[in-house]
Amino acid sequence: MEIISDPQEMQSLARQWRGQELKVVLVPTMGFFHPGHLSLMEYGRTIGDRLVVSLFVNPAQFGPQEDLGRYPRDLDRDVRLAREVGVDCLYTPEAEAMYPPGYQTFVEVESLSGGLCGASRPGHFRGVATVVLKLLHQVSPGVAVFGEKDYQQLMVVKQMVADMDLPIKIAGRPINREPDGLAMSSRNTYLNPEGRAAALCLYRALLAARDLVAAGVKSREPILAAVRQIIDATPGARIDYVALVDPATLKEVGAIRGEARLLLAVWVNKTRLIDNTLLSETRLCCVQ
Ligand code: AMP
Repeated sequence: MEIISDPQEMQSLARQWRGQELKVVLVPTMGFFHPGHLSLMEYGRTIGDRLVVSLFVNPAQFGPQEDLGRYPRDLDRDVRLAREVGVDCLYTPEAEAMYPPGYQTFVEVESLSGGLCGASRPGHFRGVATVVLKLLHQVSPGVAVFGEKDYQQLMVVKQMVADMDLPIKIAGRPINREPDGLAMSSRNTYLNPEGRAAALCLYRALLAARDLVAAGVKSREPILAAVRQIIDATPGARIDYVALVDPATLKEVGAIRGEARLLLAVWVNKTRLIDNTLLSETRLCCVQ
Protein backbone atom coordinates (compact mmCIF):
# COMPACT_ATOMS: atom_id res chain seq x y z
CA MET A 1 0.00 0.00 0.00
CA GLU A 2 1.26 3.45 -0.90
CA ILE A 3 0.96 6.24 1.63
CA ILE A 4 0.93 9.63 -0.06
CA SER A 5 0.57 13.00 1.58
CA ASP A 6 1.61 15.32 -1.24
CA PRO A 7 -1.39 16.37 -3.40
CA GLN A 8 0.78 16.62 -6.52
CA GLU A 9 2.12 13.12 -5.98
CA MET A 10 -1.48 11.89 -5.55
CA GLN A 11 -2.49 13.61 -8.77
CA SER A 12 0.38 12.11 -10.72
CA LEU A 13 -0.34 8.57 -9.44
CA ALA A 14 -4.01 9.05 -10.39
CA ARG A 15 -2.92 10.29 -13.85
CA GLN A 16 -0.73 7.23 -14.28
CA TRP A 17 -3.62 4.90 -13.33
CA ARG A 18 -6.00 6.70 -15.71
CA GLY A 19 -3.42 6.26 -18.48
CA GLN A 20 -3.57 2.52 -17.82
CA GLU A 21 -7.39 2.70 -18.02
CA LEU A 22 -7.71 1.48 -14.44
CA LYS A 23 -10.96 2.22 -12.63
CA VAL A 24 -10.15 4.20 -9.50
CA VAL A 25 -12.46 4.26 -6.46
CA LEU A 26 -12.15 6.87 -3.69
CA VAL A 27 -13.41 6.54 -0.11
CA PRO A 28 -13.04 9.90 1.68
CA THR A 29 -12.68 9.67 5.49
CA MET A 30 -11.47 11.56 8.53
CA GLY A 31 -9.75 8.42 9.83
CA PHE A 32 -9.93 6.60 13.19
CA PHE A 33 -11.38 3.71 11.25
CA HIS A 34 -14.27 1.61 12.50
CA PRO A 35 -16.20 -1.16 10.73
CA GLY A 36 -18.42 1.46 9.03
CA HIS A 37 -15.38 2.90 7.25
CA LEU A 38 -14.06 -0.58 6.50
CA SER A 39 -17.38 -1.60 4.91
CA LEU A 40 -17.08 1.33 2.47
CA MET A 41 -13.52 0.26 1.65
CA GLU A 42 -14.50 -3.38 1.16
CA TYR A 43 -17.28 -2.30 -1.18
CA GLY A 44 -14.92 0.05 -3.02
CA ARG A 45 -12.44 -2.74 -3.55
CA THR A 46 -15.07 -4.88 -5.28
CA ILE A 47 -16.13 -2.22 -7.81
CA GLY A 48 -12.80 -0.92 -9.12
CA ASP A 49 -9.19 -1.71 -9.99
CA ARG A 50 -7.51 0.70 -7.57
CA LEU A 51 -8.81 1.83 -4.17
CA VAL A 52 -7.75 5.17 -2.70
CA VAL A 53 -8.80 6.05 0.85
CA SER A 54 -8.29 9.66 1.86
CA LEU A 55 -7.69 10.44 5.53
CA PHE A 56 -8.04 14.12 6.25
CA VAL A 57 -9.53 15.80 9.32
CA ASN A 58 -10.80 18.80 7.39
CA PRO A 59 -10.56 22.01 9.44
CA ALA A 60 -12.94 23.79 7.05
CA GLN A 61 -15.91 21.67 8.12
CA PHE A 62 -15.51 22.28 11.88
CA GLY A 63 -17.01 25.32 13.58
CA PRO A 64 -14.85 27.38 15.98
CA GLN A 65 -16.44 25.78 19.07
CA GLU A 66 -16.37 22.22 17.67
CA ASP A 67 -14.11 19.22 18.24
CA LEU A 68 -11.39 19.68 15.59
CA GLY A 69 -8.61 19.73 18.20
CA ARG A 70 -9.71 16.61 20.02
CA TYR A 71 -11.06 14.61 17.06
CA PRO A 72 -9.72 11.05 17.58
CA ARG A 73 -6.67 10.08 15.54
CA ASP A 74 -4.55 6.92 15.30
CA LEU A 75 -2.61 6.86 12.07
CA ASP A 76 -0.65 3.68 12.81
CA ARG A 77 -3.82 1.71 13.45
CA ASP A 78 -5.53 3.22 10.39
CA VAL A 79 -2.54 2.25 8.21
CA ARG A 80 -2.72 -1.32 9.47
CA LEU A 81 -6.48 -1.62 8.95
CA ALA A 82 -6.30 -0.08 5.46
CA ARG A 83 -3.57 -2.57 4.52
CA GLU A 84 -5.69 -5.45 5.80
CA VAL A 85 -8.66 -4.37 3.68
CA GLY A 86 -6.49 -4.16 0.57
CA VAL A 87 -6.40 -0.39 0.06
CA ASP A 88 -3.95 0.54 -2.72
CA CYS A 89 -3.27 4.08 -1.62
CA LEU A 90 -3.87 5.87 1.68
CA TYR A 91 -3.92 9.57 0.91
CA THR A 92 -3.12 11.69 3.98
CA PRO A 93 -2.72 15.33 2.93
CA GLU A 94 -1.74 17.99 5.49
CA ALA A 95 -4.07 20.90 6.18
CA GLU A 96 -1.35 23.31 5.01
CA ALA A 97 -1.20 21.54 1.65
CA MET A 98 -4.98 21.56 1.20
CA TYR A 99 -5.42 25.16 2.35
CA PRO A 100 -2.11 26.98 1.82
CA PRO A 101 -1.75 30.63 2.85
CA GLY A 102 -3.90 32.75 0.56
CA TYR A 103 -6.46 29.99 -0.05
CA GLN A 104 -9.86 31.58 -0.80
CA THR A 105 -12.11 29.32 -2.88
CA PHE A 106 -15.11 27.58 -1.31
CA VAL A 107 -18.04 25.59 -2.67
CA GLU A 108 -21.60 26.21 -1.50
CA VAL A 109 -24.43 23.77 -2.27
CA GLU A 110 -27.23 26.13 -1.43
CA SER A 111 -30.58 24.60 -0.61
CA LEU A 112 -29.58 21.11 0.55
CA SER A 113 -27.00 22.54 2.96
CA GLY A 114 -29.40 24.93 4.66
CA GLY A 115 -31.39 22.89 7.17
CA LEU A 116 -30.76 19.96 9.52
CA CYS A 117 -27.02 19.67 10.30
CA GLY A 118 -26.42 22.76 8.16
CA ALA A 119 -28.61 24.81 10.49
CA SER A 120 -26.90 23.48 13.64
CA ARG A 121 -23.40 23.68 12.16
CA PRO A 122 -23.16 26.83 10.03
CA GLY A 123 -20.47 26.50 7.35
CA HIS A 124 -20.14 22.73 7.84
CA PHE A 125 -21.34 21.70 4.38
CA ARG A 126 -19.40 24.51 2.73
CA GLY A 127 -16.30 22.90 4.22
CA VAL A 128 -17.44 19.41 3.23
CA ALA A 129 -18.28 20.36 -0.37
CA THR A 130 -15.00 22.23 -0.75
CA VAL A 131 -12.79 19.43 0.50
CA VAL A 132 -14.70 16.74 -1.40
CA LEU A 133 -14.39 18.70 -4.64
CA LYS A 134 -10.65 19.07 -4.05
CA LEU A 135 -10.25 15.35 -3.26
CA LEU A 136 -12.28 14.38 -6.32
CA HIS A 137 -10.08 16.60 -8.44
CA GLN A 138 -6.85 15.26 -6.94
CA VAL A 139 -7.80 11.58 -7.18
CA SER A 140 -10.21 11.76 -10.17
CA PRO A 141 -11.97 8.49 -9.36
CA GLY A 142 -14.70 6.89 -11.45
CA VAL A 143 -16.67 6.24 -8.24
CA ALA A 144 -16.55 7.83 -4.79
CA VAL A 145 -18.18 5.98 -1.88
CA PHE A 146 -19.98 7.66 1.03
CA GLY A 147 -22.01 6.33 3.98
CA GLU A 148 -25.72 6.94 4.46
CA LYS A 149 -24.84 7.56 8.11
CA ASP A 150 -24.16 11.14 7.01
CA TYR A 151 -27.25 11.26 4.83
CA GLN A 152 -27.35 15.03 4.28
CA GLN A 153 -23.65 14.98 3.37
CA LEU A 154 -24.32 12.25 0.80
CA MET A 155 -27.07 14.34 -0.80
CA VAL A 156 -24.96 17.51 -0.77
CA VAL A 157 -22.08 15.69 -2.47
CA LYS A 158 -24.38 14.13 -5.09
CA GLN A 159 -25.83 17.56 -5.88
CA MET A 160 -22.40 19.15 -6.16
CA VAL A 161 -21.15 16.43 -8.50
CA ALA A 162 -24.23 16.85 -10.72
CA ASP A 163 -24.05 20.66 -10.68
CA MET A 164 -20.32 20.69 -11.48
CA ASP A 165 -20.74 18.12 -14.31
CA LEU A 166 -18.16 15.82 -12.75
CA PRO A 167 -17.96 12.43 -14.50
CA ILE A 168 -17.98 10.63 -11.16
CA LYS A 169 -20.55 8.27 -9.68
CA ILE A 170 -21.38 8.81 -6.00
CA ALA A 171 -22.27 5.53 -4.29
CA GLY A 172 -24.17 5.59 -0.96
CA ARG A 173 -23.72 2.65 1.41
CA PRO A 174 -25.82 1.48 4.38
CA ILE A 175 -25.17 2.39 8.00
CA ASN A 176 -23.04 -0.04 10.01
CA ARG A 177 -24.21 -0.51 13.58
CA GLU A 178 -22.88 -1.95 16.81
CA PRO A 179 -24.58 -5.20 17.86
CA ASP A 180 -27.00 -3.22 20.06
CA GLY A 181 -27.90 -0.85 17.20
CA LEU A 182 -25.79 2.26 17.88
CA ALA A 183 -24.57 3.64 14.55
CA MET A 184 -20.79 3.35 14.39
CA SER A 185 -19.00 6.67 14.57
CA SER A 186 -15.52 7.88 15.45
CA ARG A 187 -17.26 10.26 17.90
CA ASN A 188 -18.66 7.31 19.91
CA THR A 189 -15.24 7.23 21.60
CA TYR A 190 -16.23 10.47 23.40
CA LEU A 191 -19.03 8.66 25.28
CA ASN A 192 -18.58 7.50 28.87
CA PRO A 193 -20.49 4.34 29.94
CA GLU A 194 -23.64 6.29 30.88
CA GLY A 195 -23.47 8.25 27.64
CA ARG A 196 -22.95 5.06 25.66
CA ALA A 197 -26.16 3.65 27.20
CA ALA A 198 -28.07 6.90 26.60
CA ALA A 199 -26.87 7.00 22.98
CA LEU A 200 -29.01 3.96 22.23
CA CYS A 201 -32.08 6.23 22.33
CA LEU A 202 -31.39 7.27 18.71
CA TYR A 203 -31.69 3.72 17.47
CA ARG A 204 -34.67 3.00 19.69
CA ALA A 205 -36.41 6.08 18.32
CA LEU A 206 -35.77 4.99 14.72
CA LEU A 207 -37.12 1.53 15.52
CA ALA A 208 -40.25 3.00 17.12
CA ALA A 209 -40.87 5.10 14.00
CA ARG A 210 -40.36 2.10 11.79
CA ASP A 211 -42.86 0.11 13.88
CA LEU A 212 -45.47 2.87 13.60
CA VAL A 213 -45.08 2.97 9.83
CA ALA A 214 -45.33 -0.83 9.66
CA ALA A 215 -48.60 -0.52 11.63
CA GLY A 216 -49.97 1.85 8.99
CA VAL A 217 -49.20 5.28 10.52
CA LYS A 218 -48.23 7.72 7.78
CA SER A 219 -48.68 11.20 9.14
CA ARG A 220 -45.82 13.17 10.49
CA GLU A 221 -47.01 14.20 13.95
CA PRO A 222 -47.50 10.82 15.64
CA ILE A 223 -44.20 9.59 14.22
CA LEU A 224 -42.25 12.63 15.40
CA ALA A 225 -44.03 12.62 18.76
CA ALA A 226 -43.00 9.01 19.39
CA VAL A 227 -39.42 9.74 18.42
CA ARG A 228 -39.24 12.85 20.62
CA GLN A 229 -40.81 11.06 23.55
CA ILE A 230 -38.18 8.31 23.54
CA ILE A 231 -35.29 10.76 23.35
CA ASP A 232 -36.76 13.22 25.86
CA ALA A 233 -37.23 10.36 28.35
CA THR A 234 -33.52 9.48 28.19
CA PRO A 235 -31.37 11.15 30.88
CA GLY A 236 -28.40 12.94 29.35
CA ALA A 237 -29.96 13.11 25.87
CA ARG A 238 -31.13 16.39 24.29
CA ILE A 239 -32.66 16.71 20.83
CA ASP A 240 -30.86 18.95 18.36
CA TYR A 241 -33.32 18.14 15.59
CA VAL A 242 -35.79 15.46 14.55
CA ALA A 243 -36.91 15.69 10.94
CA LEU A 244 -39.07 13.71 8.56
CA VAL A 245 -38.02 14.72 5.06
CA ASP A 246 -38.29 13.93 1.40
CA PRO A 247 -35.28 11.68 0.71
CA ALA A 248 -34.21 13.68 -2.36
CA THR A 249 -34.92 17.31 -1.45
CA LEU A 250 -34.56 17.03 2.35
CA LYS A 251 -37.67 19.22 2.66
CA GLU A 252 -40.01 18.38 5.55
CA VAL A 253 -42.99 16.22 4.59
CA GLY A 254 -46.43 16.17 6.22
CA ALA A 255 -46.89 12.45 5.71
CA ILE A 256 -45.09 9.48 4.26
CA ARG A 257 -46.09 9.11 0.65
CA GLY A 258 -43.91 6.45 -0.86
CA GLU A 259 -40.66 7.01 1.02
CA ALA A 260 -39.39 9.48 3.57
CA ARG A 261 -36.19 9.78 5.57
CA LEU A 262 -36.22 10.24 9.32
CA LEU A 263 -33.14 12.13 10.46
CA LEU A 264 -32.00 12.73 14.05
CA ALA A 265 -29.30 14.76 15.73
CA VAL A 266 -29.07 14.33 19.49
CA TRP A 267 -26.69 15.68 22.08
CA VAL A 268 -25.64 12.99 24.53
CA ASN A 269 -23.94 15.02 27.24
CA LYS A 270 -21.34 16.96 25.22
CA THR A 271 -21.31 14.65 22.19
CA ARG A 272 -23.52 15.33 19.18
CA LEU A 273 -24.66 12.12 17.47
CA ILE A 274 -26.59 11.71 14.22
CA ASP A 275 -28.54 8.80 12.79
CA ASN A 276 -31.26 8.22 10.22
CA THR A 277 -33.39 5.66 8.49
CA LEU A 278 -35.56 5.21 5.45
CA LEU A 279 -39.27 4.96 6.20
CA SER A 280 -41.20 3.32 3.41
CA GLU A 281 -44.97 3.17 3.02
CA THR A 282 -44.79 0.03 0.96
CA ARG A 283 -41.44 -1.61 1.47
CA LEU A 284 -40.93 -3.48 4.72
CA CYS A 285 -37.64 -1.86 5.54
CA CYS A 286 -35.41 -2.70 8.42
CA VAL A 287 -33.42 -0.02 10.20
CA GLN A 288 -29.97 -0.44 8.79
P1 AMP B 1 -15.96 10.15 8.65
O1 AMP B 1 -14.58 9.61 8.82
O2 AMP B 1 -16.78 10.12 9.89
O3 AMP B 1 -15.98 11.48 7.94
O4 AMP B 1 -16.71 9.14 7.67
C1 AMP B 1 -16.16 8.80 6.43
C2 AMP B 1 -17.20 8.08 5.62
O5 AMP B 1 -17.64 6.92 6.33
C3 AMP B 1 -18.44 8.94 5.35
O6 AMP B 1 -18.91 8.70 4.03
C4 AMP B 1 -19.41 8.41 6.38
O7 AMP B 1 -20.76 8.57 6.02
C5 AMP B 1 -19.04 6.95 6.42
N1 AMP B 1 -19.47 6.35 7.68
C6 AMP B 1 -19.26 6.83 8.94
N2 AMP B 1 -19.86 6.04 9.85
C7 AMP B 1 -20.47 5.05 9.16
C8 AMP B 1 -21.27 3.92 9.52
N3 AMP B 1 -21.56 3.66 10.79
N4 AMP B 1 -21.71 3.11 8.54
C9 AMP B 1 -21.41 3.37 7.25
N5 AMP B 1 -20.68 4.41 6.83
C10 AMP B 1 -20.21 5.24 7.78
